[in-house]
Amino acid sequence: MDPVPSPTPSARGGIVGELKGIVRSLQRVVRDAAPGQASGDEARQIVGLFAEVERAASSGLSLFTPVVVATGSFTKEGHGSAAQWLGSLSGSSEASAKGRLAAAERAASTPVLTEALHNGDLSAAQLNVVTRTSAEVSDAAANLLPLAQGGASLQELSDAAARLRAGARQRENERARRDRVQAHRHFRWRQVDSGGIRGDFFCDEVEWAKVAPLLEARAKARWKAAGSHDVASFEAHRLDAFIELMALSDGGGSDGPDGSGRSPKGPRVETLVLIDAAALRRGTTEGDEVCEIEGIGPVSVAAATELLGEGGLRYLVKEGFDIKTVTKATRDIASCIDAALIARDRTCCAEPCGKRHGLERDHVHDHAEDGPSELDNLVRLCPEHHSLKTYGGWRIEGEPGNWKWVAPENPKSAGAISRARKLATAKAKANAEAKAEAKVKATVPKDRNSPRRA
Ligand SMILES: [Zn+2]
Repeated sequence: MDPVPSPTPSARGGIVGELKGIVRSLQRVVRDAAPGQASGDEARQIVGLFAEVERAASSGLSLFTPVVVATGSFTKEGHGSAAQWLGSLSGSSEASAKGRLAAAERAASTPVLTEALHNGDLSAAQLNVVTRTSAEVSDAAANLLPLAQGGASLQELSDAAARLRAGARQRENERARRDRVQAHRHFRWRQVDSGGIRGDFFCDEVEWAKVAPLLEARAKARWKAAGSHDVASFEAHRLDAFIELMALSDGGGSDGPDGSGRSPKGPRVETLVLIDAAALRRGTTEGDEVCEIEGIGPVSVAAATELLGEGGLRYLVKEGFDIKTVTKATRDIASCIDAALIARDRTCCAEPCGKRHGLERDHVHDHAEDGPSELDNLVRLCPEHHSLKTYGGWRIEGEPGNWKWVAPENPKSAGAISRARKLATAKAKANAEAKAEAKVKATVPKDRNSPRRA
């Protein structure tokens, strides 16, 4: 099953021992290094050798990660996904770890690439280019590997890969082309460090045609209405039109203060704005005060208050740990607790995860075991850590502000956790069906009798 042939247990022990020795030697070399005393030629030679080390290390990493993924052993360290695990090991983002895992996965199923990895020939970036191209062009590895091994620059390698892909696309028939596009469809957005949201998407032309005419017509109308003195570009108006259309269809938006759902389908979407009372009074945030749009990220107080009066918005004004004001009046206690929980747990509570999108609420002590639905017994977790806790035996201990993510005695692998989740889902389904059946049985005799009574 393993995509990479596993070494025998004794060989494995050998590798670990040998690697530990090498790592310690390397660390000693780096610690004692005196770069200031090296000549230019010497330094150049040393950098060359370190580059070789980096390449060999990267190859070794790519050879072994598929086994960690296949066995799911990353959960044994409390990581919710393989990308999370590798990201935290290598100090990279989860997204770049994901790319690296995918490349290693593909290399493991391509013999020539596996061989190149064993030779320590490929850097992580080169491997990425070769495997990504292999996904589209069958003989890519055979064409690109000699280039990489012959010392071509990354740019030369990327250019050659682009030419191969372009050639393959010309040969590809229309159906295959659309299938490829469909398989790679995506819509990504993120908050940029310097402020603002940046997005990019990729989709099938036919799918896009379902929305493009309306979008373009709206954009053109807005642009024309703005007149020739307007400095905004047509693209700027297209974005305005896009946001206007999305706001219309999400059941609220800028329609009216009540934000009554305009769309008959889909759930009502409510946007939460969380602000520290002090920041709201001052007009700016200081220290670790928050001013955030839930699920999007930090914004200025001015930007947050600009949204006041829009429909479909809920303001949580925070004084310390307390929620002082929830602008939309509600007597529902559950909803108040939810609001306080959102204000308290800004990121996943399984330290050091730090995820802040798509968080789910969970009981510290299980609800089924009479854990109360009180704020102190609730935490927010990302879906991956939620699953580790519910099905993998991981626990949250401590108190709000000082949670500890605690391992079970024998941490389970991802496969075991996934099986436990499937079993629980099947059991819940069977229970629900049994209940429904019992209900039917209870009502059938009554129905038979009812005509006589009538
Ligand atoms: Zn998490």
